[in-house]
Amino acid sequence: WRPHLPLARLLNVTELVNHWTAVFEKRGIPEARESSEYIVAHVLGAKTFQSLRPELWTQPLTPWQLQYIQELSSYRLQRMPVQYILGEWDFQGLSLKMVPPVFIPRPETEELVEWVLEEVTQRSRVVRAQGGPLILEVGCGSGAISLSLLSKLPQSQVIAVDKGEAAICLANENAHRLQLQDRIRIIPLDVTLEDSWAHLLPWGPVDLIVSNPPYVFHRDMEQLAPEILSYEDPVALDGGEEGMDIISHILALAPRLLKDSGSIFLEVDPRHPELVGSWLQSRPDLFLDLVTVRRDFCGRPRFLHIQRSRP
Ligand code: GLN
Repeated sequence: WRPHLPLARLLNVTELVNHWTAVFEKRGIPEARESSEYIVAHVLGAKTFQSLRPELWTQPLTPWQLQYIQELSSYRLQRMPVQYILGEWDFQGLSLKMVPPVFIPRPETEELVEWVLEEVTQRSRVVRAQGGPLILEVGCGSGAISLSLLSKLPQSQVIAVDKGEAAICLANENAHRLQLQDRIRIIPLDVTLEDSWAHLLPWGPVDLIVSNPPYVFHRDMEQLAPEILSYEDPVALDGGEEGMDIISHILALAPRLLKDSGSIFLEVDPRHPELVGSWLQSRPDLFLDLVTVRRDFCGRPRFLHIQRSRP
């Protein structure tokens, strides 16, 4: 016989984190401790476990809190990404709403944004562009790249396109959430459709094109983690046979939309710098040069700077 004590009496915050960490580990859930910490912190109204006031760590939880943690943890047991469970995630210091199946921004994409910011601030010192740059983002998803560029470049304006309805809605919501809606135009558009560029012409030539396009080689799709495969829209990831389907469309439309000295910044697979280089050689009519390849924090060549070389 065991006394039927409410769990609330038994578990304080730290014990509960340990309990769910153990459950997650036993069930083979990746990032067990982080997941459990994020969920418990969220239910207690904090962003991270570390940011909880220490006096809370030993506090017992209310039955309602316990039940809520149990519910959120059950989603994690079904491999739902923690970003969707919490319903928000930070990117470049901005808190963005996250809703499945819209692509969750990855940490390496923050490096792409930082690179773009470096280049823009360096160049504007030289060019002293009137106003800020006009930026086109292809495949904006939740709006992470566009909104972080807007927040760091007060003069800039963005045209963000995506072909997914859920992405368009979420990017709009995030723009309003961050009060950046006046400097961004979010347009539903599939850049692989013929003449799609024509819909963007009225917005004028842009200084920059930036994109984290779908670039996963189709044959690699099935090896992605269950978190990705079961919850994120594969359209945001699958780049076709060699991951080049969307990349090549972006490059092909660039000359029609990019100013003469404009730049394209892309996040790609480590196999792409070479593939993109030879693809560009086969298309001299586009007047685009691969000028720099940057590595990500794991040392893999993942970011491309392509420039218009037309005199
Ligand atoms: N790096 C991403 C992943 O592995 C893929 C991103 C993309 O296709 N744009 O999930």
